[in-house]
Amino acid sequence: MGIKVAKFGGSSVADAIQIKKLKDIVEGDGDIKYVIVSAPGKRFKDDSKVTDLLYLCKTHIEHKIPYEQIFQVIYDRYTSMEADLGVDVGIAGDLEEIRKEIENGASVDYIASRGEYLNAKIIAAFLGFAFVDAKDIVRFSDKGKFLEDVTNDSINRVLSGVDKAVIPGFYGEKLDGSIKTFSRGGSDITGAIIARAVDAEVYENWTDVSGFLMADPRIVDDPKPINSISYMELRELSYMGASVLHEDAIYPAKVADIPINIRNTNKPEDAGTMITAQPQVDPDQIVSGIAGKKGFTVIGVYKSHLASEKGFIRKLAGIMEDNDITIEHLPTGIDTMSVVLDNKMINGKLDEIVEEMQSQLKPDTLEVVEDISLIATVGAGMAARKGTSATLFTALAGAGVNVCMIDQGSSEMNIIVGVEEKDFETAIKAIYNAFVE
Ligand code: ASP
Repeated sequence: MGIKVAKFGGSSVADAIQIKKLKDIVEGDGDIKYVIVSAPGKRFKDDSKVTDLLYLCKTHIEHKIPYEQIFQVIYDRYTSMEADLGVDVGIAGDLEEIRKEIENGASVDYIASRGEYLNAKIIAAFLGFAFVDAKDIVRFSDKGKFLEDVTNDSINRVLSGVDKAVIPGFYGEKLDGSIKTFSRGGSDITGAIIARAVDAEVYENWTDVSGFLMADPRIVDDPKPINSISYMELRELSYMGASVLHEDAIYPAKVADIPINIRNTNKPEDAGTMITAQPQVDPDQIVSGIAGKKGFTVIGVYKSHLASEKGFIRKLAGIMEDNDITIEHLPTGIDTMSVVLDNKMINGKLDEIVEEMQSQLKPDTLEVVEDISLIATVGAGMAARKGTSATLFTALAGAGVNVCMIDQGSSEMNIIVGVEEKDFETAIKAIYNAFVE
């Protein structure tokens, strides 16, 4: 077995109870060599995340409002965690040091990063692992750009002499020596970067759910978990609104062909979702997931002999480019072409765009349908299976949903339908029931 890298998110390291679960998981698997941790997250629904409190300290200081009470909450959280876990890493001293830095005008990135820093120190001691500071391995340019190759080299150099370590997520160091954080949720990125550098066999991402679900649980009751999904399928789902890992967190693992396993710290017996480079097609489950988004407009153009007109798409694309709009989809027929646009991109310019289309494209008719939602049914196994679209459209017709746009990517891994927003939820339920239940 190769090396495993395990990242534990905020709720998995929120207090001593959770950190004990982490220890059981790590001790139960000798292949886990490097553990990346977030700052303590919420312990219960209305609790605060330490990172949010740290940002709050900084905003208070900027507005010259006393921040001490907020800092005290952070102070108490760490000192009681240290006591509850029975370790002594001198966390009170570290907190005093941080307080001084804050008073001396420390940067927002430095302040925000301390959540992970302190947590990693305590957890390293509790596991008996080395503590490796992220500032010594994750590098950014002076302008704040993440330096992939420099980081890879320093991870290899520093970790080659360390058998097992806990590393704080979320931040690194600029070449000028100052601290720089990734975007929010950035510990996922740190985990993936480290997994890549040490060429891990798997990157485990421990959280509070047993992987991704096949559909949004706010729409479908108790959707099934996705056991296995490829990076490409996941990208399609996340593009269509499914909340999955941040693109930057997937990239390093993807380029190195390292599978990512989403696991549940509270239910370690669940296998979770495995994200792999190659799709693992399950003949009994050809659809991997269903996701959708509201807020689109479809402009349908009809022009006789459109199919034989040269430069039509170029002109259409030019109009969109001039208006700084990206085209979401462009389904075409013999004499018809529809352009699907995101309402956020149109940004109040619909009349102008339609006018330009009228004058430049000279269509016979042009029809605008607003308030359209798009739904993607994704599955690498769909391409090889006859009758997939028949199942999909029969389900939608049976549910009384009118389909106003159809697009299928050339990979045949994804069928996208446009339906009126009022039919969005009904359509997702119908598709789910047809393919999954
Ligand atoms: N603690 C940081 C945040 O709350 C980073 C992370 O947890 O991944 O955004």
